[in-house]
Amino acid sequence: MASVYFDHNATTALDSNVLEAILPWLREQSGNPTSRHAYGRHSRDAVEHARAQVAEACGAYSSQVIFTSCGTEANNFAVKGMLSHRPAAQVLTSAIEHPCITRPALAMQSQGYISRQIAVDANGKVTLEALKSQLTAPTSLVSVMLANNETGVIQEIAEIAEMARTAGAFMHTDAVQGLAKLPLNFTDLNVHAMTISSHKIHGPQGAAALILDKRVDIQPLLHGGGQEKGLRSGTENVAAIVGFGAACELATANQKHYAVHTQALRDQFEQGLNTLKVRVFGSNVTRLPNTSFFSVDGIEGETLVMALDRQGYAVASGSACSSDSTEPSHVLLAMGVHADVARGAVRVSFGANNTAAQVADFLAILRNEILRLKQLTAIAA
Ligand code: PLP
Repeated sequence: MASVYFDHNATTALDSNVLEAILPWLREQSGNPTSRHAYGRHSRDAVEHARAQVAEACGAYSSQVIFTSCGTEANNFAVKGMLSHRPAAQVLTSAIEHPCITRPALAMQSQGYISRQIAVDANGKVTLEALKSQLTAPTSLVSVMLANNETGVIQEIAEIAEMARTAGAFMHTDAVQGLAKLPLNFTDLNVHAMTISSHKIHGPQGAAALILDKRVDIQPLLHGGGQEKGLRSGTENVAAIVGFGAACELATANQKHYAVHTQALRDQFEQGLNTLKVRVFGSNVTRLPNTSFFSVDGIEGETLVMALDRQGYAVASGSACSSDSTEPSHVLLAMGVHADVARGAVRVSFGANNTAAQVADFLAILRNEILRLKQLTAIAA
């Protein structure tokens, strides 16, 4: 049975050109980038070349790129590291953040910080009015994601950053889902810090970055040999970093084509969904071009995802980034969606290698599976 991958917001396949760039670093003797000999210098040069590629892809300077092992680490570093130099005031995170933002914010409560959530509207957008009134209380940090991993909904980060700065707060954005899918520019977003991750853009797992305004004081999570200017100790994962750099360069070159291609697939898909009595979330506002998040009345998302898997289609229910997938999506609950409807949510996220034929075949299978599962539910009732 053909297997089709429609879960690109969870992770992506390694690009073959990226693999080529990585292989020598796995096959041959390579040095520790901190070593003074030729092997070490060669590795250091490779890391610095990747740093320039990453910086270029997101409108930053090389000196602003701090490599980490994953987006989760970069988000924890941003929240905990930035707060440790700030007064113990409130930390505002949007109600739809990934747990690797909300959990460190909650963890900082033990040190006197107060974690509060910023509400979103029915479309999944941060309500600027609510944020404005929350910012009247002393605030140390605001963290709002650029694009949501489930709905794909994009936030007005530059505007939010301006509000945060005016209130004297630091501003961080989790741009893990935005890199390669949207034009991304750290300077234009006006934030103090921004997270990006390699495995979401056809790079390898094991590399990510926090892009950081150098004027911001930040406390490292890891102390040790002083790598990454003392901000992230630990021997650099040279192969993964090289791959991240190569993936960034490819993603920048292909971004326009990617957006047009995946949006055409998404439009085709959602037109097909029109005939199926489903509810699509976030479709009234600007979304990532590749993402469709919908719910079928009366069918559990988990059940539909497993049925589609048996038919050879990989899609996600709720947040695939969360290990606890039986709970209804916190993103949909924050948007005011009823828990029963939220439990039926399924996410399809297209990639550059998907085709219109795959979408057409998928729609036919989806239609059959929905009918079959509805009949089963009716028999059971
Ligand atoms: N932030 C968002 C929005 C994500 O979708 C993910 C995905 O898992 C992460 C952070 C975590 O990134 P990583 O998998 O690199 O730890």
